[in-house]
Amino acid sequence: MNGPRKMELLEILAEGCRVHPAYRARRAATLKCKPCAVIWDARCELKLRLLFKMDS
Ligand SMILES: [Zn+2]
Repeated sequence: MNGPRKMELLEILAEGCRVHPAYRARRAATLKCKPCAVIWDARCELKLRLLFKMDS
């Protein structure tokens, strides 16, 4: 689970939230918005993957 998952995460980040186009996941999503929360999770996972060199 590396390459394809990473592409998926990058896609989620690139697409962003349609309700909150300004949300770039620089901080945790405080609004109870599902897409924003998903974007935040994706960003955190990407960061962890980089940290532990799980991306390829
Ligand atoms: Zn949102």
